[in-house]
Amino acid sequence: MNTIAFIGLGNMGGGMAANLAKTGHNVRAFDLSPDALARAKNAGCNIANSVLDALNGAEVVVTMLPAGQHVRSVYLGENGIIANAQKGALLIDSSTIDIESARAVITAAAERELAMVDAPVSGGVGAATAGTLTFMVGGTETAFAKAKPYLESMGKNIFHAGDAGNGQVAKVCNNMLLGITMVGTCEAFALAEKLGLDAQTFYDISSTASGQSWSMTAYCPAPGPVPTSPANNDYAAGFTAAMMLKDMRLAQQAAASAKASTPLGAQAEALYALMEVAGKDDLDFSGIMKLIRGKL
Ligand code: NAD
Repeated sequence: MNTIAFIGLGNMGGGMAANLAKTGHNVRAFDLSPDALARAKNAGCNIANSVLDALNGAEVVVTMLPAGQHVRSVYLGENGIIANAQKGALLIDSSTIDIESARAVITAAAERELAMVDAPVSGGVGAATAGTLTFMVGGTETAFAKAKPYLESMGKNIFHAGDAGNGQVAKVCNNMLLGITMVGTCEAFALAEKLGLDAQTFYDISSTASGQSWSMTAYCPAPGPVPTSPANNDYAAGFTAAMMLKDMRLAQQAAASAKASTPLGAQAEALYALMEVAGKDDLDFSGIMKLIRGKL
């Protein structure tokens, strides 16, 4: 078993670090939040006082941070992970961040001959706790092969998406599609209702016809047809509209840099931004149904 530095013990990272500790690794955990540190300690991690302290003896480093700027600040610079990780250490960043930052950090790691992958996840806090996350991994074949056993302690599906940054590419494209299908599904249910077709009947028909999607059958935004969906709990999150907006913005940023046209992604981003402006972005992302119905 190995010594693993784990930085970022929030909603997702807390469960992931706990699963690495359960596998038998010595997890040296660090977060800026004392509460997060206390939870990690209860989950079997050893608490570090700083990023540098966490790196002490670590053969592997895992980070789960909010956004690109946090990842750059923790990895780069003279007090960063890249300058201070031990020789031959493996670096895994599982945060959802912009593709440019992911590639910049992996390039900097390669300059010190450190293997690094971007490995963002799909699946929420429940999957992080249960160890059933899906990982989308970017990096060399060698780095992927090194990272895989550790990712298997935290997830169930591990995909190699290609070179550095391609994990983030898969993540933003997937979530842009999810945001678009969610908005489209809301529109269809709202229109059906206005035209006198109840949600259950429309669901029974469309879920076995060509309108079917994950947004409909696993996460139906209309209350009723899928008992486990947040729609039946007044849209309590789940995956918040704020998180969806973050991912939609990353997708639009990536589209602009690649000169790709994503008109539906841009429209869905604008709708989620309305939820933010209305102060309702703490609702589940399927709560966009309220906006479409005109009752946010
Ligand atoms: P979170 O805000 O709960 O956790 C982030 C943690 O990082 C916080 O505890 C914070 O204190 C810590 N942190 C920030 N800067 C730090 C630093 N310099 N040093 C040490 N710790 C630092 O966020 P989360 O929900 O755990 O999400 C983490 C990442 O996973 C995000 O990029 C998010 O987009 C992505 N993600 C989240 C979900 C979800 O459902 N929550 C699902 C998939 C992907």
